Amino acid sequence: MKRTDFKRRSFLKLVPLAAAAVLAARSGQALAQGMPHVDENDATAQTLGYKNDATKVDRKKFAKHQPGQTCSNCQLYQGKPKEAWGPCPIFPGKQVSAKGWCSAYVKKA
Ligand code: SF4
Repeated sequence: MKRTDFKRRSFLKLVPLAAAAVLAARSGQALAQGMPHVDENDATAQTLGYKNDATKVDRKKFAKHQPGQTCSNCQLYQGKPKEAWGPCPIFPGKQVSAKGWCSAYVKKA
């Protein structure tokens, strides 16, 4: 076998792996995009004072909330920087608003 045959065969073996990695990454994004938004009225959301719009947080009940704190600058937020919604482990299988807030907020390091 010539050396160039070996390189070509090695390359051809890598192509499906690279394609699978790209598809896996895309399907992960699609899964996140397909997840429903958190309903402010669900039990966990109400317990944690979650609001889709952080300016609507009940400051009397959740005094720890400070202006400027939003899901997008929370350590737990898993959305992409410019996307309006993203996953959060506090609400598995759902997306929270980048402009939202809940009392589990942790300032991003
Ligand atoms: Fe938003 Fe952070 Fe609360 Fe998740 S934990 S809902 S990202 S403030």
